[in-house]
Amino acid sequence: MQKHLVEEANRCLQCKKPRCQSGCPVDTPINEVINMFLKGNIQEAGELLFANNPLSVICSLVCPHEKQCEGSCVVGKKGTPVNFGSIEHHISNYYLDTMKPKFTKSPDKKVAIIGSGPAGITIAVILASRGYDITIFEAHERIGGILRYGIPEFRLPKDLLDKLKDKLLEMGIKIRLNTLIGHVLTVDDLFRDGYKAVFVGTGVWRPKALGIKGESLGHVHFAINYLKNPSVYQLGDRLCVIGAGNVAMDAARTAARNGVKEVSIMYRKGRDAISADKHEVELAEADGVKLELNKSPLEIVDEGVLYHDNIESVDRLFKADSVIIAVSQGPRDYIVSNTKGIDVDERGLINTTESGLTTREGVFASGDVVTGAKTVVEAVRLSKIVADAIDEYVQSLG
Ligand SMILES: Cc1cc2nc3c(=O)[nH]c(=O)nc-3n(C[C@H](O)[C@H](O)[C@H](O)COP(=O)(O)OP(=O)(O)OC[C@H]3O[C@@H](n4cnc5c(N)ncnc54)[C@H](O)[C@@H]3O)c2cc1C
Repeated sequence: MQKHLVEEANRCLQCKKPRCQSGCPVDTPINEVINMFLKGNIQEAGELLFANNPLSVICSLVCPHEKQCEGSCVVGKKGTPVNFGSIEHHISNYYLDTMKPKFTKSPDKKVAIIGSGPAGITIAVILASRGYDITIFEAHERIGGILRYGIPEFRLPKDLLDKLKDKLLEMGIKIRLNTLIGHVLTVDDLFRDGYKAVFVGTGVWRPKALGIKGESLGHVHFAINYLKNPSVYQLGDRLCVIGAGNVAMDAARTAARNGVKEVSIMYRKGRDAISADKHEVELAEADGVKLELNKSPLEIVDEGVLYHDNIESVDRLFKADSVIIAVSQGPRDYIVSNTKGIDVDERGLINTTESGLTTREGVFASGDVVTGAKTVVEAVRLSKIVADAIDEYVQSLG
């Protein structure tokens, strides 16, 4: 493995103006990292990656590299781009195993982080490294957000999140699990208890419905709920997944791997309009998932999905034992409906300034709850800016 990675690293041309770096949303210093790795300075390389992106070990596995670093790589113009993702993963995993974070915290600089997804973790690590006393509040029993409860194990091994949690604890970050803010405890309670600033990184967890008849039937599920714990579902032999984004691909591939014999994806448009990344579609097809294109669902019935065939202009029944709906997610409103002064837009996403300040003083937000469903690296990019803004705000309080 390591030999292969060294060969891969040696393929890097060390460009003077590295396009891979500018193709990365968090500006990862790829040349420098590869150089350090080839010189045997893996610890230093890991430190650089972690300081730039506390979720480097995750991004190395789940980023859409073909649109970012690898898509911009000069070597890729005439052949295969340098596979920086696998080099980054090796280095960052090594660093996570060996790092010994030593942060000192000041009890009068308390900041509350709501949500332990990529946005919350990024803010927590950056502020803890600057001496803040951080508490993360997480509604679930484990940290990670979508990394834990959305992206399937075969794409992202969850032991990485357990390791990350141990490191957060070693950094002195407190984590309150199974604690939904906006219910028993509110944002006002957090300010009452001495937190100088509150960060909201609660993501988008409310599945969007199709708005057609039959969605409440017993054999119909929403993808975001299914992916939380696929093993508790009995889907039968034939599954129809409605929608063609990355979430639909994850749900379909997970069901196929959990023993559903025939998994199909129903999509109202053609292949060119599919919103999932090309390689995710290819991998789903390689897992045996069938694409049923140009078919608009009209109604879900006990026997399957009634649909309109947009090519042949006829209505038909697609037989299925169960149906999974994967047509995007929006934010839940536990916090904004129980807190005065946090404005949202028409989709329920939190309104913020460019540096993440909401319409309520001392409350900041980033990640999917601000941008709508995006990517892990995008949540990290925005959260780095917001961490600086929170730091500046708390310092201004004196
Ligand atoms: C199935 C699926 C697959 C994906 N695959 C990829 C991929 O391969 N690559 C990629 O880059 N992106 C992927 N994404 C998108 C990516 O996971 C998200 O953009 C990213 O996780 C957003 O991070 P976040 O921190 O804003 O929110 P989240 O990850 O959603 O985390 C929010 C956290 O807040 C917690 N929370 C919510 N409300 C409260 C509350 N009131 N009190 C306390 N805690 C609360 C939640 O439990 C959760 O832990 C995928 C998304 C899905 C749904």
